Amino acid sequence: MSLTRVVLASRNAKKIAELRRILAVAVPQVEVVGLDEVPPYPETVEDGATFAENALLKAREAAEVSGLPAIADDSGIAVDALNGMPGVLSARWAGKPKSDERNLRLVLEQVEDLPDTRLGAAFVCAAALVLPGGEEHVVEGRMEGSLIRQPRGTNGFGYDPIFVPSGSVLTSAEMTPADKDAISHRGKAFRALAEVLATSLTSA
Ligand code: IMP
Repeated sequence: MSLTRVVLASRNAKKIAELRRILAVAVPQVEVVGLDEVPPYPETVEDGATFAENALLKAREAAEVSGLPAIADDSGIAVDALNGMPGVLSARWAGKPKSDERNLRLVLEQVEDLPDTRLGAAFVCAAALVLPGGEEHVVEGRMEGSLIRQPRGTNGFGYDPIFVPSGSVLTSAEMTPADKDAISHRGKAFRALAEVLATSLTSA
């Protein structure tokens, strides 16, 4: 079986491994490579207003530079009481230098005076596929849940220690990576994109 190379616009080894695991089931003829395996180019400016726009910006640039089908994702946390913010600003919510700890503390301060009933939030992930011929697709995955005021757990990153997914008693930082993948925004978006990729490659 000849393999089709697909680039994931990321240098994050965990993200690349997660996409490889998901695509291995849906599209076994695909080999996922990261940005370290394509010609170098400056980091894409993520100035889109939505997760979908940012994911598309990153995937377009990776497809153009590599000449390969390109996948990119963009994600963050949307807090209901903050009108969906931090949203696309999740990684840099507390300013520079980027700090997961300061971001999480700032969100907790912002919801400090709210009752526990108003702590609804969701992790959101948009995943984009751009083919070298210009075909574009975007899908979105969500993990609904709520914030807690005392961080718990060390498995995750970002806002995981203050987020309890709906139906769970654990924060997403207390879950195993496999349990989180099964319900996470990124897992859902990557699984949906795998189906799109399978269809695109078979109809190409
Ligand atoms: P990116 O899409 O990898 O750039 O992630 C954007 C930011 O959103 C991260 O820096 C985190 O702050 C937050 N984020 C996205 N996904 C997760 C997650 O699964 N857990 C915790 N934080 C996340």
